[in-house]
Amino acid sequence: MSHSPVRSPRAQAYVGASVIDATGAPPRPDQTLVVIDRTIAAVGPSSQVPIPHGATVHDIRGKYVIPGLTDMHVHSESETDDPRHFASLYIANGVTAVREMWGRPGLHRIRRMIDSGRLLGPRMTIASPLLDGEPALWSDVPESPVVTVSSPEQARRAVPQAIDGGADFIKVYSRLGPEAYRAILAESQRRGIAVAGHRSDRMPFLEQLESGQRSFEHMFGGIWPAASSDVDRLEAAMARIQTTPQFHLGSWIQQVSRIEWDALASHSSTRATSILERMVAADVAYTPTLAVHAFIDRPGAIRADDPRMQYMAPGTPDSWDFLRTHIYCGGGRSKEEADQHRDLNRWRLATVAAMDEAGVRLLAGTDSVGPGLFPGFSLHDELELLVSAGLTPLRALQCATLEPARFLGREQQAGTVEHGRVADLVILDADPLDDIRNTRSIHAVVVDGRHVGQAERQELLATARRIAGGEPGEV
Ligand SMILES: [Zn+2]
Repeated sequence: MSHSPVRSPRAQAYVGASVIDATGAPPRPDQTLVVIDRTIAAVGPSSQVPIPHGATVHDIRGKYVIPGLTDMHVHSESETDDPRHFASLYIANGVTAVREMWGRPGLHRIRRMIDSGRLLGPRMTIASPLLDGEPALWSDVPESPVVTVSSPEQARRAVPQAIDGGADFIKVYSRLGPEAYRAILAESQRRGIAVAGHRSDRMPFLEQLESGQRSFEHMFGGIWPAASSDVDRLEAAMARIQTTPQFHLGSWIQQVSRIEWDALASHSSTRATSILERMVAADVAYTPTLAVHAFIDRPGAIRADDPRMQYMAPGTPDSWDFLRTHIYCGGGRSKEEADQHRDLNRWRLATVAAMDEAGVRLLAGTDSVGPGLFPGFSLHDELELLVSAGLTPLRALQCATLEPARFLGREQQAGTVEHGRVADLVILDADPLDDIRNTRSIHAVVVDGRHVGQAERQELLATARRIAGGEPGEV
């Protein structure tokens, strides 16, 4: 920003709020924030920051400004659906950026619509199609672009193909064998593209951790087999998992859950500490996706009368019910299994707290639009879950702001409320550091410098509701 902030017709001044800039600094009361075009041109005490002549002034005394939120693990709906549905829900919820974890051609088209201003939506980072082993966990889902990679040769083909398809990073999945995995990492490194995704069941976690994979997603198995004093037996058990053709994913989750339960009996906190130290040293990030685990571990948590169902397709409660029973619970859980999952969920939270304490970079991600998850809304659940795990509200906020920006190499452009950063902001009615649930009390959202006030926010929600209900939304 070199031009003078004087007399710009596109200047917006936000006056009087407390700014929580997400750098780690304490909140600053009574600030004036000047946005010119897409950029934060000034932020500081209201007594010191002049309001540019001709600026639109927003009196937001008593409000709280935080950076726009990023959901680092999403699967936005398929390309045949109306993209305004999820785009509206993200923006209405203050989610101004997302990392798409499963690349599809339609997502690239949607990103172009957003970037060119034809669609109001979040900034997108888009994965390659899933690269998985044989049989792939999603191979029984029709029309899913999964690339099966069983050999180094296939890996060397799959990586450049993904790059040609426009992928920002390579997504690796749970069933990759060691040779294919290593070849994917080597080929990606050679071509300068990052790799992120699941841990592979078929190789030692510590090797993966130090292989160059940049983020690990979900807590299926997670660090636990490696953190057990019985590591060799448990990692061998992970490697031996065989899925059934009826429900690859469902049978996989069931077997992983048993190994998790087994691993907890021989959990070694000394080993866990050393793994976390190595995660920090390798500078890998972890996206625990606690929101999806909450649904899997405690399936009663989401109810058909949840008010957010109005933004989802009419059959959603039934389809979630079906998925919960047949996929996540493998046809139903015994009382004993249900109890185990409740305990496992407590362990997931405790593990996330330990990661944070050790200095592991945590990313807030939900896995929406999977079962039990509502695009945009669920990121606020994830923040709440991170705090219930033991993070401070500020740390939780950073997992959705500063940390994603750093992870994506955009820390000079985004992620904090500072001079020169892109103007992605959420203005809240109440203090999120007081109670993280206050991130839901959204007064306004600023996306790429564009002010989305309460009336427009309500319109976005109405559009999403109409599209979910099968009516064509209004442009
Ligand atoms: Zn996912």
